[in-house]
Amino acid sequence: MAKPAPRAVTVQSIEQLTTNMKRLIFTGESLSDFPENQASAYVKMVFEVPGSPKPIMRSMTVVDSSQKRKELTIDIVVHNKHQPEKQGPAGRWLAKAKAGDPALIAGPGDTKLVDLDADWFFIAGDMTALPAIRANLQLMPESAKGYIVLEVPDKDDQRALEISEQQIPDGIDIHWVINSESGCNPEQIKDTLTQLEWLPGTPYIWAAGELKAVLELRNHLNQTMPKPRPARYISSYWQKGLNDEQHKLEKKRQLTEI
Ligand SMILES: Cc1cc2nc3c(=O)[nH]c(=O)nc-3n(C[C@H](O)[C@H](O)[C@H](O)COP(=O)(O)OP(=O)(O)OC[C@H]3O[C@@H](n4cnc5c(N)ncnc54)[C@H](O)[C@@H]3O)c2cc1C
Repeated sequence: MAKPAPRAVTVQSIEQLTTNMKRLIFTGESLSDFPENQASAYVKMVFEVPGSPKPIMRSMTVVDSSQKRKELTIDIVVHNKHQPEKQGPAGRWLAKAKAGDPALIAGPGDTKLVDLDADWFFIAGDMTALPAIRANLQLMPESAKGYIVLEVPDKDDQRALEISEQQIPDGIDIHWVINSESGCNPEQIKDTLTQLEWLPGTPYIWAAGELKAVLELRNHLNQTMPKPRPARYISSYWQKGLNDEQHKLEKKRQLTEI
């Protein structure tokens, strides 16, 4: 079956959410049948790039959507802002984006939610995974237990979680890792995990972010996790030094060998 055409939308608003993240709200008639309750699912932003024989797509996470308001919200990390020559199509588009700009958005794909029936949760990721982690945290019951390790480039980026201390279940410990050089020091999230106490029962493991950081974490978990392995979602969302087409090839090679 042919894939549905991407939805034509318009930037309704763009807000500097934190030092390294912008929030975009898109609007358009085409969003009147965008499925509801898709927070954590990915959409693909579609870019026409001069010289490229086909459109280029970049994945972003649904923060919120409304058929009634015909709106879709996504949060995009501002990366390589001081090295525009290193930006890809999404980064270049974001740098100039303003209200009224047209955009094309395909999807959504599957949601990326933890199994809420697990005994406890280990969730980790960088700022590209923060919107999906936020969506998961918002669904957790008050009785939830476990750890969330989040790496952000700047302390100010912690505000992007947008959930107050009071709203976070008492049993969930959040550990922030500040790394101003995203993609460097890929062992940091794994090192934080090694300092945490493995809780009783079976966890649900959720991890996403830069490929090398995710690999460090996955390899450590494979070596130390009790068998049988708990259910998990482990995925890389980007790779330092490679564009997304190159990253996807590397991801296929590295992450399928589990
Ligand atoms: C399922 C899924 C959901 C995602 N959700 C989000 C989301 O909600 N918000 C979001 O911002 N991103 C998200 N991402 C990640 C995003 O798709 C990638 O960061 C993408 O590579 C950005 O495209 P680009 O055109 O800007 O850069 P590319 O052309 O892919 O790469 C150009 C250069 O920028 C570098 N680069 C790419 N991303 C980053 C980064 N985050 N930090 C530092 N350097 C980078 C690359 O290493 C490369 O050197 C998601 C990815 C997946 C797979």
